[in-house]
Amino acid sequence: MIRRSLLDIQTMAGGSGLSAEKENEFIHGITTDSRKIEAGTLFIPIVGENFDGHEFAGKALQEGAAATLWDRSKPNPPAGAVILVEDTLKALQKLASSYLEQLQLKVIGVTGSNGKTTTKDMVASLLSTTYKVHKTKGNFNNHIGLPLTILSMTEDVEVAVLEMGMSNRGEIELLSNLAKPDAAIITNIGESHLMNLGSREGIAEAKLEIVSGLKPDGVLIYDGEEPLLNERIQSYSFKTISFGGSKRNAYSPSEIQQTENGTFFKISGREEKLFLPVLGKHNVNNALAAIAAAEFLGVTQEKISEGLKAIQMTGMRLELTKTKENLAVINDAYNASPTSMKAAIRLACDMQGYNQKILVLGDILELGDEMQVKFHQEVGESIDSKEIDYLFTFGKLGAEIAAGAHKKMDSSLIHVYQDKQELVNHLKQTVKSGDLVLVKASRGMKLEEVVNALV
Ligand code: ATP
Ligand code: MG
Repeated sequence: MIRRSLLDIQTMAGGSGLSAEKENEFIHGITTDSRKIEAGTLFIPIVGENFDGHEFAGKALQEGAAATLWDRSKPNPPAGAVILVEDTLKALQKLASSYLEQLQLKVIGVTGSNGKTTTKDMVASLLSTTYKVHKTKGNFNNHIGLPLTILSMTEDVEVAVLEMGMSNRGEIELLSNLAKPDAAIITNIGESHLMNLGSREGIAEAKLEIVSGLKPDGVLIYDGEEPLLNERIQSYSFKTISFGGSKRNAYSPSEIQQTENGTFFKISGREEKLFLPVLGKHNVNNALAAIAAAEFLGVTQEKISEGLKAIQMTGMRLELTKTKENLAVINDAYNASPTSMKAAIRLACDMQGYNQKILVLGDILELGDEMQVKFHQEVGESIDSKEIDYLFTFGKLGAEIAAGAHKKMDSSLIHVYQDKQELVNHLKQTVKSGDLVLVKASRGMKLEEVVNALV
């Protein structure tokens, strides 16, 4: 984590007002959460929807914070080590970009509609074979989480792998200009946040904001299967590398082989067989993006193979558990979008050697009133009835998945529920030893409760 004198902090944050006797005191670490004050940290009060952090600045100092920032337009700053700034959020971001500049390390930025956290974890694993790496913890990917991630790095870090999330235009631009990536990854373009951005074109343009802070000798690594990206990068002057299913991409997969423990694949044009301890063809795409980034930073093939094997995923993303009764349950209840739900269904279809294969799918939220029914029906239509034995749906929109599935699947195989407990009861009667169950919906649907009931 950052260690600097208060005078340095004041300069880096573009602040003033620190009393002279405090200038040579040091801070180590930064927090915006007054419940997590440790001795010697810098407290940055953020004005949120429900709380104004300034209310807690005095308490933070009493509990041992080395100093606090303070919005100069607000009355009555607490006594003690106080640095006045124009805007505490901007000051946090300024501190982070200034710290990053001082460290002179390499930065990888990861954005996209699906697979940011996954790809970020993969990039970090590959680079960790060769460099000292710091990555975004969990999902700390926004205008507050990203600067906090940067400021939590120690000075010996050689590469920072940063997830960049967004729900509106301009957000990725801000993060990219703050982090100045050497390599920027766009995992894919989906439908998430369609409500805010109006169209898939709008989503593509919002993700491409990641190039706005790209270093001149940097690289954009992008989903080459997405026409909206291919069209738009034509005018770019910096290096671009594409990945994806078809051979025209710089990185494409061949000989994909799905097992319960993970996925074997090769990179087209290369001999070596690689193993990814993660399920799903879409994760091979994420891995290809990660490999492209690692090779851009000079990681050798041998190290890449080693780093792939060591990948550890953040929870509830295609997590397969085998129960005592020999039931395989895939928990993908972390979140859902139409793209990621179709990818998970494809995975269930690809997995072989089970008695019955059962999908438990719930609502995908935040798609907007206009399109949500159509998207859910399309998910239902994507189910290959030759590969799937039963479909259980949960929720109002879940029922639309069932409606789409009806076109190809026999009605007796489709069960629509609005009550989770009833669904669980029926599901428990249906599953047998040797079956595979896939559980997926948006976070708000809490379908992990179905997983917990099974395992
Ligand atoms: P968030 O917006 O919540 O930060 P994220 O972009 O970080 O999400 P992950 O958490 O990595 O995404 O994965 C979320 C879901 O998307 C998981 O269900 C995962 O299986 C699926 N997913 C991951 N990568 C892809 C991909 N390339 N294509 C389609 N679905 C994907
Ligand atoms: Mg994420």
